[in-house]
Amino acid sequence: MNDKVDVLIIGAGASGAAVAWSLADTRMKILCLEQGDWVKPTDYPSNGRDWEARLFSDFATSPNRRARPTDYPVNDDNSPIKVLNFNGVGGSTIVYAAHYPRLHPSDFRVRSLDGVADDWPIDYFTLEPFFAENDRMTGVSGLAGDPAYPAHQPPMPPLGLGKSGTRFAQAMNKLGWHWWPSDTSVATTEWEGRAPCINLGHCMPGCAQGAKASTDITYWPAAIRAGVELRTRCRVREITLNEHGMASGAIYYDAEGKEQFQPAEVVIVACNGVGTPRLLLNSTSGRFPNGLANSSGLVGKNLMFHPYALIFGYTDEPLDGNQASPLCLWSMQFYETDPNRDFVRGYSYQFSRGLGPVTEAIFSAADGRLPWGAEHHQVFRTMASRRISLAAICEDLPEEHNRVTLDPVLKDSHGIPSPKIDYTISDNSWRMLDHSIARAKEVLAAADARNVAVQCPIVNGGWHLLGTARMGNDPERSVVNSWGRSHDVKNLFIVDGSIFVTSAGVNPTSTIQALALYIADAMKQRLATLFD
Ligand SMILES: Cc1cc2nc3c(=O)[nH]c(=O)nc-3n(C[C@H](O)[C@H](O)[C@H](O)COP(=O)(O)OP(=O)(O)OC[C@H]3O[C@@H](n4cnc5c(N)ncnc54)[C@H](O)[C@@H]3O)c2cc1C
Ligand code: SF4
Repeated sequence: MNDKVDVLIIGAGASGAAVAWSLADTRMKILCLEQGDWVKPTDYPSNGRDWEARLFSDFATSPNRRARPTDYPVNDDNSPIKVLNFNGVGGSTIVYAAHYPRLHPSDFRVRSLDGVADDWPIDYFTLEPFFAENDRMTGVSGLAGDPAYPAHQPPMPPLGLGKSGTRFAQAMNKLGWHWWPSDTSVATTEWEGRAPCINLGHCMPGCAQGAKASTDITYWPAAIRAGVELRTRCRVREITLNEHGMASGAIYYDAEGKEQFQPAEVVIVACNGVGTPRLLLNSTSGRFPNGLANSSGLVGKNLMFHPYALIFGYTDEPLDGNQASPLCLWSMQFYETDPNRDFVRGYSYQFSRGLGPVTEAIFSAADGRLPWGAEHHQVFRTMASRRISLAAICEDLPEEHNRVTLDPVLKDSHGIPSPKIDYTISDNSWRMLDHSIARAKEVLAAADARNVAVQCPIVNGGWHLLGTARMGNDPERSVVNSWGRSHDVKNLFIVDGSIFVTSAGVNPTSTIQALALYIADAMKQRLATLFD
């Protein structure tokens, strides 16, 4: 049997890495079990000329398409938005786009402000020091002074706007709408041994330069130097319970497929908004026949994705194409609730540079914009490096019927039941999407873009996995308390995106990691009582 550890962390992604690093200074015996591998930067597609082809194979962002042995299949047939992730050290930060906004203060108070959903049990200012700590550990670039964003001081200067960003900024100025250089987790200067961005532009399937902050190169090296053990190719099947109703450890399959038991004093789950409810629902016992820590019945419910609309067009001159990191400015013009609109809450825009040539050809041929035959090359020349796009990230409100359950048939390679997603886009979200599309068309017109097209929702857009084990003060209305501790099982904690109460209208990872650091800090302050 494995030696007992003080803290067992399950999942080595964005949140698992942050909580491991923060707890390491307690000198407790800390172990992290991760089902995936370390990814070598030399294996990233950005090292080779076939980098775009690999976006559709071994570096696809859909686990169903990627289908590595380290992935688990997800049944998302009953959802208009499909689940994306990456399973390995770094988790989904290996393939994320590094757009790095924080939730705004209003996002924590939507019930008080707008009478919908619930307020969070904590506010923005509770997290503020942890946002700053995370910015330093991650290496965030940006520009202080955004009037539509909480005051902060990014440690590095922002990414350059380039030709595409400048075109958008000028268009937004014509309309008089808010825009600002975005916070990104891409290093723009040397940072903690990492090299700055050199505009390779292949960020999503991994940055071989090491400029994009995936947690395998930020938190993990520091956590391991501080004594944390990280065991890869270890897929946890279930968390076990002792006779006192406390978590006693986890059963997992090791790299050879052998079943192992890992005893632990405290268990922290960091498997993301789909992997975490899957694991809890798979951990049944006499005390918790419907899944561990699920006396509220809310484990897996209230799944929020962020419905996205993509609105794009083509300019009359080549711009940046896929050169440089894809996202460098945002707009919060329509972020807060406006009673004159027919929806509550709001959305942000992220502005994107173009696509690589192969991706442009594949998408445009599939959509019928790019004909085969005599005109093929001539039409392609009017597209290549000329695409500019806006994506609207709409706040998704929690609804219990949007949920993760266990699929009765589908299993992963170890025979563990897979997650099944049931999700619909709400009327409020549809009205918000419609608004965002109409406004984005005004921006593209102001940018003199032609052949404007819309994708709504972005089908392969389930990259933000939130809300399925929400935090709250009321054990009947939430799964964990205000510092991530399970209401039902006192030595079980959850630190990933599943604890979000609401989704806000921005990308979540900065907030997920700030929350993980805040929970680690809360645990450290209560060390004496943690093991009771
Ligand atoms: C294509 C793409 C683009 C994105 N772009 C952005 C962006 O620009 N900005 C932004 O803020 N966010 C972005 N995201 C989202 C971001 O990556 C996630 O919000 C973040 O990584 C979530 O952190 P997490 O710790 O909750 O989970 P993850 O980072 O997904 O980590 C979970 C880890 O748990 C492991 N795990 C799961 N189950 C088990 C098990 N049973 N046993 C052992 N290990 C297990 C997984 O292998 C994985 O490594 C993007 C995501 C994708 C997929
Ligand atoms: S553009 Fe910058 S961050 Fe993106 S892959 Fe290239 S070097 Fe890395």
